[in-house]
Amino acid sequence: MALTPLSDALATVLAALPAKRDTEQVGLDDALNRVLAVAIISTLDVPAADNSAMDGYALRASDVPSALAVSQRIAAGQAPEPLAPGTAARIFTGAIMPEGADTVVMQEDALERDGQVSILGCITPGQHVRRRGADIAAGAEVMAAGKVLTPQDIGLLAAVGCASVTVYRRLRVAVLSTGDELVTPGQGARAPWQVYNSNQYQLSAQLRALGLIPVVFDPLPDNPEIIGDALEHATQTADVLLTTGGVSVGEEDHVRGQIEARGELALWKLAIKPGKPLSFGHVGNTPIFGLPGNPVSAWVTFALVVKPWLLRAQGITPQPMHRITVRAGFEVNRAGTREEYLRVKLLSTNGYLRAELAGNQSSGVLSSVSAADAVAVIPVGRTVALEDEVEVLLMSELLTAPYS
Ligand code: AMP
Ligand code: MG
Repeated sequence: MALTPLSDALATVLAALPAKRDTEQVGLDDALNRVLAVAIISTLDVPAADNSAMDGYALRASDVPSALAVSQRIAAGQAPEPLAPGTAARIFTGAIMPEGADTVVMQEDALERDGQVSILGCITPGQHVRRRGADIAAGAEVMAAGKVLTPQDIGLLAAVGCASVTVYRRLRVAVLSTGDELVTPGQGARAPWQVYNSNQYQLSAQLRALGLIPVVFDPLPDNPEIIGDALEHATQTADVLLTTGGVSVGEEDHVRGQIEARGELALWKLAIKPGKPLSFGHVGNTPIFGLPGNPVSAWVTFALVVKPWLLRAQGITPQPMHRITVRAGFEVNRAGTREEYLRVKLLSTNGYLRAELAGNQSSGVLSSVSAADAVAVIPVGRTVALEDEVEVLLMSELLTAPYS
């Protein structure tokens, strides 16, 4: 089977998105990181009325420069009286402008004595007034469906009077790791032939970071029947399955074979490095991503292939990741036949960013992923000399919503 370029692989997996998504209603305190399912239209103007941006005096600009009698005092939360002609109102930040007043003079620019206020210096008519509806006009769309709600979004929802919102139900994602060598941290010492199961924890954390629900299964031995039965069982409780290990070409690699035996395989072998053995298919109606066992391969295929699917399946409208051009602080001497992802640290040198390798680039070495700020994308057929321009994807976007 020829290697599939990443863009074709994405087209294949994105053709298999769920047709419908369930929704639920949540209060604002439970809305952080949830995905808005229905657009929010404001029924109100925000602010509700013209109000003062300063502590000071509200007046008619045309009455200045005469000294003006202070005819009322208006604090935030009080309803004003119309402003009597030729007078000023003592006013405080957030208080509603009295009818007739058009301008606010800040108290630092005014002198009040014996009930009369004089304005010092010049004024601009209309100054220091926050206009009704300047933030949001009634009838405006405040937020589109598909938005991942941030703390500032939740503030905005409260500002337009929303107490609850309709969001998509969080997807349940099964995590199944395979390998006779796997042991769980905290459950006994590791023999030299054993490996701590890092993929299970890495993937669960990635899912939680995206606001999804990991459904973690006990690690599976390299046994085709047990793996096949576990896949079928997991389809009963999860919306989508992630497996790790067992998708390569070795005699102990049974995951891909079981997807084929019990369902359908749509994709195998990508033209990327690391991550070549990634598989994708279905058992029943449930999509399955078969990630490679090497922890870095699992990490990179999750970020590049699984995450774009999960975001859209979760109802998120993704934003493209920034591709930032930096100078290479490393060399690639042999042109590759697969698009390569190098773990790099970004250093600021003489006003530009330079990417240095973050350590050993082997697909089993997690420490260089942990140390990296970004991954450099090296296209097929390209060599890189020191100081050449290369494109990087930022760690801060690779694994977070809504970037894809
Ligand atoms: P596989 O894809 O099953 O051929 O595994 C490739 C490499 O990844 C082997 O060195 C495995 O020991 C290692 N590996 C597989 N699964 C895991 C896991 N869950 N955690 C850490 N390493 C793993
Ligand atoms: Mg294995």
